[in-house]
Amino acid sequence: MKIVVQKFGGTSVAGLERMQRVLEIVRRTHGKGYKVVVVLSAMSGETNRLLSLAQQFSKEPDAAELDVLATTGEQVSVALFSMLCKDAGLKARSLLGHQIQIKTTCDYTNARILDIDAAAMKALLQDYDVLAVAGFQGCDEHGRLTTLGRGGSDTSGVALAAALKADACEIYTDVEGVFTTDPNICDKARKLDKISYDEMLEMASMGAKVLQIRSVEFAKKYNVPVRVLSTFIDNPGTLVSQEDKSMEYVLVSGIAYDKDQARVTIYDVLDQPGVAASIFGPIAEKGILVDMIIQNTSRDGHTDMTFTVSRKDLDKTMAILTAIKADVGAKEIQFDTGVCKVSVIGVGMRNHSGVASRSFAAMSREGINLLMISTSEIKITMLIEDKYAELAVRTLHEEFELDKDPGERKVGEV
Ligand code: ADP
Ligand code: ASP
Ligand code: MG
Repeated sequence: MKIVVQKFGGTSVAGLERMQRVLEIVRRTHGKGYKVVVVLSAMSGETNRLLSLAQQFSKEPDAAELDVLATTGEQVSVALFSMLCKDAGLKARSLLGHQIQIKTTCDYTNARILDIDAAAMKALLQDYDVLAVAGFQGCDEHGRLTTLGRGGSDTSGVALAAALKADACEIYTDVEGVFTTDPNICDKARKLDKISYDEMLEMASMGAKVLQIRSVEFAKKYNVPVRVLSTFIDNPGTLVSQEDKSMEYVLVSGIAYDKDQARVTIYDVLDQPGVAASIFGPIAEKGILVDMIIQNTSRDGHTDMTFTVSRKDLDKTMAILTAIKADVGAKEIQFDTGVCKVSVIGVGMRNHSGVASRSFAAMSREGINLLMISTSEIKITMLIEDKYAELAVRTLHEEFELDKDPGERKVGEV
Protein backbone atom coordinates (compact mmCIF):
# COMPACT_ATOMS: atom_id res chain seq x y z
CA MET A 1 0.00 0.00 0.00
CA LYS A 2 1.45 3.39 -1.03
CA ILE A 3 0.76 6.08 1.57
CA VAL A 4 1.27 9.85 1.54
CA VAL A 5 0.80 12.02 4.64
CA GLN A 6 -0.29 15.58 3.84
CA LYS A 7 -0.65 18.16 6.61
CA PHE A 8 -2.53 21.41 6.02
CA GLY A 9 -2.19 24.40 8.35
CA GLY A 10 -4.78 26.83 9.65
CA THR A 11 -4.89 29.22 6.68
CA SER A 12 -5.22 26.26 4.29
CA VAL A 13 -8.46 25.11 5.93
CA ALA A 14 -9.98 28.50 6.80
CA GLY A 15 -13.33 28.22 5.01
CA LEU A 16 -15.02 26.26 2.25
CA GLU A 17 -13.10 27.66 -0.71
CA ARG A 18 -9.73 26.88 0.84
CA MET A 19 -10.79 23.39 1.88
CA GLN A 20 -11.89 22.79 -1.71
CA ARG A 21 -8.33 23.57 -2.75
CA VAL A 22 -7.11 21.04 -0.16
CA LEU A 23 -9.56 18.53 -1.61
CA GLU A 24 -8.10 19.15 -5.09
CA ILE A 25 -4.59 18.33 -3.83
CA VAL A 26 -5.77 15.23 -1.98
CA ARG A 27 -7.75 13.98 -5.00
CA ARG A 28 -4.75 14.48 -7.25
CA THR A 29 -2.59 12.42 -4.89
CA HIS A 30 -5.23 9.70 -4.58
CA GLY A 31 -5.50 9.68 -8.37
CA LYS A 32 -1.81 8.70 -8.52
CA GLY A 33 -2.58 5.52 -6.59
CA TYR A 34 -1.86 6.64 -3.01
CA LYS A 35 -3.86 6.29 0.16
CA VAL A 36 -3.87 9.75 1.71
CA VAL A 37 -3.60 10.50 5.41
CA VAL A 38 -4.64 14.14 5.70
CA VAL A 39 -3.66 15.88 8.93
CA LEU A 40 -5.55 19.09 9.53
CA SER A 41 -5.11 22.08 11.84
CA ALA A 42 -7.90 24.18 13.24
CA MET A 43 -9.10 27.00 10.98
CA SER A 44 -6.74 29.97 11.37
CA GLY A 45 -7.44 32.04 14.46
CA GLU A 46 -9.61 29.32 16.01
CA THR A 47 -7.07 27.97 18.53
CA ASN A 48 -6.34 31.54 19.68
CA ARG A 49 -10.07 32.20 19.99
CA LEU A 50 -10.60 29.09 22.11
CA LEU A 51 -7.64 29.82 24.38
CA SER A 52 -8.73 33.41 24.96
CA LEU A 53 -12.22 32.16 25.77
CA ALA A 54 -10.68 30.06 28.53
CA GLN A 55 -8.94 33.17 29.91
CA GLN A 56 -12.33 34.88 30.18
CA PHE A 57 -13.69 32.01 32.27
CA SER A 58 -10.73 31.26 34.50
CA LYS A 59 -7.73 33.22 35.76
CA GLU A 60 -5.57 30.13 35.60
CA PRO A 61 -7.38 27.63 33.36
CA ASP A 62 -6.91 23.96 34.20
CA ALA A 63 -4.39 22.59 31.67
CA ALA A 64 -6.25 19.32 31.02
CA GLU A 65 -9.49 21.20 30.35
CA LEU A 66 -7.64 23.64 28.11
CA ASP A 67 -6.73 20.65 25.97
CA VAL A 68 -10.32 19.42 25.83
CA LEU A 69 -11.24 22.91 24.65
CA ALA A 70 -8.39 23.42 22.17
CA THR A 71 -8.83 20.03 20.47
CA THR A 72 -12.29 21.07 19.27
CA GLY A 73 -10.69 23.34 16.66
CA GLU A 74 -9.14 20.42 14.79
CA GLN A 75 -12.26 18.31 15.29
CA VAL A 76 -14.29 20.84 13.29
CA SER A 77 -11.76 20.80 10.44
CA VAL A 78 -11.62 17.03 10.02
CA ALA A 79 -15.41 16.63 10.16
CA LEU A 80 -16.01 19.29 7.51
CA PHE A 81 -13.21 18.02 5.30
CA SER A 82 -14.45 14.42 5.46
CA MET A 83 -17.88 15.63 4.31
CA LEU A 84 -16.27 17.36 1.33
CA CYS A 85 -14.33 14.21 0.45
CA LYS A 86 -17.43 12.03 0.60
CA ASP A 87 -19.39 14.42 -1.60
CA ALA A 88 -16.52 14.23 -4.08
CA GLY A 89 -16.85 10.44 -4.21
CA LEU A 90 -13.84 9.56 -2.04
CA LYS A 91 -14.11 6.96 0.71
CA ALA A 92 -13.12 9.10 3.68
CA ARG A 93 -13.60 9.42 7.41
CA SER A 94 -12.38 11.61 10.21
CA LEU A 95 -10.20 10.38 13.07
CA LEU A 96 -9.50 12.14 16.35
CA GLY A 97 -6.26 11.67 18.28
CA HIS A 98 -7.78 9.32 20.85
CA GLN A 99 -9.54 7.23 18.19
CA ILE A 100 -6.33 6.25 16.43
CA GLN A 101 -4.52 6.12 19.72
CA ILE A 102 -1.91 8.80 19.34
CA LYS A 103 -0.48 8.06 22.80
CA THR A 104 1.23 10.97 24.50
CA THR A 105 2.74 11.97 27.81
CA CYS A 106 0.42 13.62 30.36
CA ASP A 107 1.96 17.08 29.89
CA TYR A 108 -1.28 18.85 29.10
CA THR A 109 -0.91 21.71 26.57
CA ASN A 110 2.60 20.51 25.73
CA ALA A 111 2.48 16.71 25.49
CA ARG A 112 4.94 14.57 23.56
CA ILE A 113 3.94 11.70 21.28
CA LEU A 114 4.99 8.31 22.68
CA ASP A 115 3.34 5.90 20.28
CA ILE A 116 0.89 5.67 17.39
CA ASP A 117 -1.22 2.62 16.58
CA ALA A 118 0.03 2.31 13.00
CA ALA A 119 -1.43 -1.19 12.55
CA ALA A 120 -4.95 0.06 13.30
CA MET A 121 -4.50 2.90 10.83
CA LYS A 122 -3.18 0.60 8.14
CA ALA A 123 -6.20 -1.65 8.66
CA LEU A 124 -8.48 1.34 8.17
CA LEU A 125 -6.55 2.37 5.08
CA GLN A 126 -7.53 -0.97 3.49
CA ASP A 127 -11.12 0.32 3.49
CA TYR A 128 -10.68 4.06 3.01
CA ASP A 129 -9.07 6.29 0.37
CA VAL A 130 -8.60 9.18 2.75
CA LEU A 131 -8.26 9.37 6.53
CA ALA A 132 -8.66 12.92 7.87
CA VAL A 133 -6.74 12.99 11.15
CA ALA A 134 -7.07 15.84 13.65
CA GLY A 135 -3.61 17.33 14.16
CA PHE A 136 -2.22 18.75 17.43
CA GLN A 137 -3.97 16.18 19.63
CA GLY A 138 -3.51 12.83 21.32
CA CYS A 139 -4.48 11.08 24.52
CA ASP A 140 -2.57 10.06 27.60
CA GLU A 141 -2.45 6.84 29.63
CA HIS A 142 -5.54 7.94 31.58
CA GLY A 143 -7.52 8.36 28.36
CA ARG A 144 -7.53 12.15 28.75
CA LEU A 145 -7.11 14.41 25.73
CA THR A 146 -3.78 16.17 25.26
CA THR A 147 -2.34 18.74 22.85
CA LEU A 148 1.18 18.92 21.48
CA GLY A 149 2.08 22.60 21.94
CA ARG A 150 1.38 25.46 19.52
CA GLY A 151 2.05 24.50 15.93
CA GLY A 152 1.75 20.84 16.97
CA SER A 153 -0.08 19.63 13.85
CA ASP A 154 3.27 19.61 12.07
CA THR A 155 4.46 17.07 14.62
CA SER A 156 1.29 14.99 14.19
CA GLY A 157 1.98 14.90 10.44
CA VAL A 158 5.62 13.89 10.70
CA ALA A 159 4.97 11.36 13.50
CA LEU A 160 2.20 9.71 11.44
CA ALA A 161 4.49 9.57 8.40
CA ALA A 162 7.19 7.92 10.52
CA ALA A 163 4.79 5.44 12.15
CA LEU A 164 3.15 4.48 8.85
CA LYS A 165 6.48 4.45 6.99
CA ALA A 166 4.75 6.66 4.46
CA ASP A 167 6.17 7.17 0.99
CA ALA A 168 6.09 10.93 1.46
CA CYS A 169 5.40 13.54 4.14
CA GLU A 170 4.19 16.90 2.87
CA ILE A 171 3.51 19.96 5.02
CA TYR A 172 1.28 22.42 3.16
CA THR A 173 1.21 26.00 4.41
CA ASP A 174 0.63 29.63 3.37
CA VAL A 175 4.16 30.22 2.00
CA GLU A 176 5.98 28.37 -0.78
CA GLY A 177 8.47 26.58 1.46
CA VAL A 178 11.23 27.36 3.92
CA PHE A 179 12.82 30.72 3.11
CA THR A 180 16.15 32.31 4.03
CA THR A 181 14.09 34.31 6.52
CA ASP A 182 10.40 34.98 7.22
CA PRO A 183 9.07 36.13 3.81
CA ASN A 184 6.39 38.09 5.62
CA ILE A 185 8.95 40.51 7.10
CA CYS A 186 11.67 40.54 4.44
CA ASP A 187 10.60 40.82 0.82
CA LYS A 188 14.05 39.72 -0.36
CA ALA A 189 13.71 36.35 1.39
CA ARG A 190 14.53 33.53 -0.98
CA LYS A 191 12.98 30.07 -0.99
CA LEU A 192 15.43 27.27 -0.23
CA ASP A 193 15.24 24.13 -2.38
CA LYS A 194 16.56 22.06 0.50
CA ILE A 195 17.70 22.45 4.09
CA SER A 196 19.31 19.99 6.51
CA TYR A 197 17.52 18.73 9.62
CA ASP A 198 20.08 20.45 11.85
CA GLU A 199 19.67 23.84 10.20
CA MET A 200 15.89 23.50 10.22
CA LEU A 201 16.04 22.57 13.92
CA GLU A 202 18.01 25.73 14.66
CA MET A 203 15.69 27.85 12.48
CA ALA A 204 12.62 26.42 14.23
CA SER A 205 14.03 26.73 17.74
CA MET A 206 15.17 30.28 17.02
CA GLY A 207 11.67 31.38 16.00
CA ALA A 208 10.88 30.30 12.41
CA LYS A 209 7.44 28.89 13.07
CA VAL A 210 7.05 27.37 9.59
CA LEU A 211 7.71 23.98 11.26
CA GLN A 212 7.26 23.13 14.93
CA ILE A 213 10.62 22.15 16.50
CA ARG A 214 9.42 18.73 17.57
CA SER A 215 8.31 17.87 14.05
CA VAL A 216 11.89 18.42 12.88
CA GLU A 217 13.25 16.37 15.80
CA PHE A 218 10.92 13.53 14.78
CA ALA A 219 11.88 13.84 11.13
CA LYS A 220 15.57 13.70 12.00
CA LYS A 221 15.22 10.81 14.46
CA TYR A 222 13.24 8.63 12.06
CA ASN A 223 14.90 10.00 8.93
CA VAL A 224 11.65 11.18 7.35
CA PRO A 225 12.27 13.57 4.45
CA VAL A 226 9.72 16.38 4.83
CA ARG A 227 8.59 18.60 1.98
CA VAL A 228 7.25 22.03 2.96
CA LEU A 229 5.10 23.59 0.25
CA SER A 230 2.25 25.95 -0.51
CA THR A 231 -1.40 24.95 -0.60
CA PHE A 232 -2.14 27.74 -3.04
CA ILE A 233 0.81 27.92 -5.45
CA ASP A 234 2.12 24.89 -7.34
CA ASN A 235 5.82 24.74 -6.52
CA PRO A 236 8.03 21.86 -5.32
CA GLY A 237 8.71 23.78 -2.07
CA THR A 238 11.60 22.89 0.24
CA LEU A 239 12.91 19.46 1.14
CA VAL A 240 14.03 19.09 4.75
CA SER A 241 16.39 16.12 4.85
CA GLN A 242 19.77 14.79 5.92
CA GLU A 243 22.74 17.02 5.26
CA ASP A 244 24.50 16.45 1.94
CA LYS A 245 27.85 17.68 0.64
CA SER A 246 26.39 20.64 -1.26
CA MET A 247 24.93 22.13 1.93
CA GLU A 248 28.39 22.61 3.50
CA TYR A 249 29.33 25.11 0.84
CA VAL A 250 26.58 27.49 1.87
CA LEU A 251 27.96 29.72 4.61
CA VAL A 252 24.65 30.97 5.98
CA SER A 253 21.30 29.34 5.17
CA GLY A 254 18.93 31.61 7.02
CA ILE A 255 18.09 34.26 9.59
CA ALA A 256 15.49 33.60 12.29
CA TYR A 257 13.98 35.92 14.85
CA ASP A 258 11.91 35.42 17.96
CA LYS A 259 10.04 38.25 19.64
CA ASP A 260 8.54 36.00 22.28
CA GLN A 261 11.44 36.66 24.65
CA ALA A 262 12.06 38.11 28.09
CA ARG A 263 15.40 38.85 29.70
CA VAL A 264 15.77 38.24 33.43
CA THR A 265 18.68 39.38 35.62
CA ILE A 266 19.27 38.25 39.15
CA TYR A 267 21.80 40.56 40.83
CA ASP A 268 24.49 39.86 43.39
CA VAL A 269 23.98 36.13 43.82
CA LEU A 270 26.66 34.28 45.77
CA ASP A 271 29.47 33.13 43.51
CA GLN A 272 29.89 29.61 44.85
CA PRO A 273 29.25 26.01 43.75
CA GLY A 274 25.58 25.02 43.62
CA VAL A 275 24.11 28.48 43.13
CA ALA A 276 23.43 28.10 39.40
CA ALA A 277 21.80 24.73 40.12
CA SER A 278 19.62 26.33 42.84
CA ILE A 279 18.44 28.93 40.33
CA PHE A 280 17.96 26.85 37.18
CA GLY A 281 16.90 23.58 38.87
CA PRO A 282 13.46 24.84 40.04
CA ILE A 283 12.96 26.63 36.71
CA ALA A 284 13.62 23.42 34.77
CA GLU A 285 11.30 21.46 37.10
CA LYS A 286 8.44 23.69 35.95
CA GLY A 287 9.23 22.79 32.33
CA ILE A 288 10.48 26.30 31.54
CA LEU A 289 13.12 26.47 28.82
CA VAL A 290 15.99 28.82 29.55
CA ASP A 291 18.02 29.87 26.56
CA MET A 292 20.89 32.37 26.65
CA ILE A 293 22.67 32.42 30.02
CA ILE A 294 25.41 34.86 31.01
CA GLN A 295 27.21 34.95 34.34
CA ASN A 296 29.25 38.07 35.07
CA THR A 297 32.75 37.99 36.52
CA SER A 298 32.80 37.79 40.28
CA ARG A 299 33.07 40.84 42.58
CA ASP A 300 33.46 40.38 46.35
CA GLY A 301 32.17 36.81 46.15
CA HIS A 302 29.02 37.86 44.30
CA THR A 303 27.98 37.86 40.65
CA ASP A 304 25.01 38.69 38.37
CA MET A 305 23.20 36.12 36.20
CA THR A 306 21.21 37.06 33.11
CA PHE A 307 19.15 34.67 30.99
CA THR A 308 16.21 34.58 28.60
CA VAL A 309 12.88 32.74 28.76
CA SER A 310 9.75 32.79 26.64
CA ARG A 311 7.45 35.71 27.61
CA LYS A 312 4.66 33.30 28.48
CA ASP A 313 6.91 31.78 31.16
CA LEU A 314 8.01 35.09 32.67
CA ASP A 315 5.48 35.24 35.53
CA LYS A 316 6.26 31.69 36.61
CA THR A 317 10.02 32.39 36.38
CA MET A 318 9.72 35.55 38.51
CA ALA A 319 7.69 33.68 41.13
CA ILE A 320 10.37 30.97 41.36
CA LEU A 321 13.20 33.52 41.60
CA THR A 322 11.40 35.52 44.26
CA ALA A 323 10.99 32.35 46.31
CA ILE A 324 14.71 31.45 46.16
CA LYS A 325 16.10 35.00 46.21
CA ALA A 326 17.24 34.93 49.84
CA ASP A 327 18.73 31.40 49.59
CA VAL A 328 21.09 32.42 46.77
CA GLY A 329 21.99 35.71 48.44
CA ALA A 330 20.50 37.83 45.62
CA LYS A 331 19.78 41.53 46.16
CA GLU A 332 17.52 42.30 43.21
CA ILE A 333 15.71 40.69 40.27
CA GLN A 334 14.82 42.60 37.11
CA PHE A 335 13.16 41.65 33.83
CA ASP A 336 12.75 43.20 30.41
CA THR A 337 10.18 42.12 27.81
CA GLY A 338 11.21 44.58 25.10
CA VAL A 339 13.77 42.21 23.63
CA CYS A 340 14.08 39.98 20.57
CA LYS A 341 16.44 37.20 19.55
CA VAL A 342 17.95 37.27 16.06
CA SER A 343 19.95 34.29 14.81
CA VAL A 344 22.22 33.60 11.85
CA ILE A 345 22.17 29.89 10.95
CA GLY A 346 24.25 27.74 8.60
CA VAL A 347 26.17 24.45 8.60
CA GLY A 348 28.86 26.20 6.53
CA MET A 349 29.93 28.02 9.71
CA ARG A 350 31.61 24.83 10.87
CA ASN A 351 34.31 25.33 8.25
CA HIS A 352 34.43 29.11 7.93
CA SER A 353 35.27 31.82 10.41
CA GLY A 354 34.17 35.41 10.20
CA VAL A 355 30.39 34.95 10.41
CA ALA A 356 30.18 36.31 13.96
CA SER A 357 32.34 39.37 13.27
CA ARG A 358 30.46 40.15 10.05
CA SER A 359 27.14 39.88 11.94
CA PHE A 360 28.31 42.18 14.75
CA ALA A 361 29.72 44.74 12.31
CA ALA A 362 26.48 44.80 10.31
CA MET A 363 24.45 45.40 13.47
CA SER A 364 26.80 48.13 14.60
CA ARG A 365 26.50 49.95 11.25
CA GLU A 366 22.76 50.20 11.93
CA GLY A 367 23.35 51.36 15.51
CA ILE A 368 21.79 48.20 16.97
CA ASN A 369 23.16 47.40 20.40
CA LEU A 370 23.79 43.74 21.28
CA LEU A 371 22.43 42.92 24.72
CA MET A 372 23.52 39.28 24.79
CA ILE A 373 25.33 36.92 22.41
CA SER A 374 25.41 33.14 22.25
CA THR A 375 26.83 30.75 19.68
CA SER A 376 26.71 27.10 18.72
CA GLU A 377 28.53 25.21 15.98
CA ILE A 378 26.06 26.33 13.31
CA LYS A 379 24.41 29.40 14.84
CA ILE A 380 25.06 32.90 16.21
CA THR A 381 22.29 34.42 18.30
CA MET A 382 22.05 38.07 19.35
CA LEU A 383 19.58 39.55 21.79
CA ILE A 384 18.55 43.08 20.81
CA GLU A 385 15.79 45.59 21.58
CA ASP A 386 12.66 44.30 19.89
CA LYS A 387 11.97 47.55 18.05
CA TYR A 388 14.98 46.69 15.86
CA ALA A 389 13.85 43.15 15.00
CA GLU A 390 12.81 43.73 11.39
CA LEU A 391 15.76 46.04 10.68
CA ALA A 392 18.19 43.48 12.12
CA VAL A 393 16.74 40.64 10.03
CA ARG A 394 16.92 42.69 6.82
CA THR A 395 20.45 43.91 7.63
CA LEU A 396 21.79 40.40 8.27
CA HIS A 397 19.97 39.09 5.20
CA GLU A 398 21.74 41.70 3.11
CA GLU A 399 25.12 41.21 4.82
CA PHE A 400 25.17 37.51 3.92
CA GLU A 401 23.67 38.19 0.45
CA LEU A 402 20.90 35.71 1.07
CA ASP A 403 18.84 37.14 -1.77
CA LYS A 404 21.48 35.84 -4.20
CA ASP A 405 22.09 32.36 -5.52
CA PRO A 406 24.54 30.62 -3.09
CA GLY A 407 27.15 30.34 -5.86
CA GLU A 408 27.23 34.12 -6.29
CA ARG A 409 27.80 35.02 -2.64
CA LYS A 410 31.05 36.11 -0.97
CA VAL A 411 32.35 33.34 1.29
CA GLY A 412 33.96 33.96 4.71
CA GLU A 413 37.55 33.20 5.58
CA VAL A 414 38.41 29.51 5.56
P1 ADP B 1 0.46 26.88 9.26
O1 ADP B 1 -0.75 27.51 9.79
O2 ADP B 1 0.34 26.43 7.84
O3 ADP B 1 1.03 25.84 10.17
P2 ADP B 1 2.36 28.82 10.28
O4 ADP B 1 1.78 30.18 10.41
O5 ADP B 1 2.49 28.00 11.50
O6 ADP B 1 1.54 28.06 9.15
O7 ADP B 1 3.80 28.87 9.58
C1 ADP B 1 3.96 29.54 8.35
C2 ADP B 1 4.52 30.93 8.61
O8 ADP B 1 5.86 30.80 9.09
C3 ADP B 1 4.67 31.78 7.37
O9 ADP B 1 3.48 32.47 7.05
C4 ADP B 1 5.81 32.74 7.75
O10 ADP B 1 5.35 33.99 8.19
C5 ADP B 1 6.46 32.07 8.97
N1 ADP B 1 7.92 31.91 8.80
C6 ADP B 1 8.85 32.34 9.70
N2 ADP B 1 10.08 32.07 9.26
C7 ADP B 1 9.95 31.46 8.05
C8 ADP B 1 10.88 30.95 7.10
N3 ADP B 1 12.21 31.00 7.29
N4 ADP B 1 10.40 30.40 5.96
C9 ADP B 1 9.06 30.33 5.74
N5 ADP B 1 8.14 30.80 6.61
C10 ADP B 1 8.56 31.37 7.76
N1 ASP C 1 -4.13 24.66 15.90
C1 ASP C 1 -2.91 24.53 16.64
C2 ASP C 1 -2.25 25.90 16.83
O1 ASP C 1 -2.78 26.90 16.39
C3 ASP C 1 -1.98 23.55 16.03
C4 ASP C 1 -1.44 23.93 14.66
O2 ASP C 1 -1.99 24.79 13.98
O3 ASP C 1 -0.45 23.30 14.25
O4 ASP C 1 -1.23 25.99 17.46
MG1 MG D 1 2.11 26.02 12.00
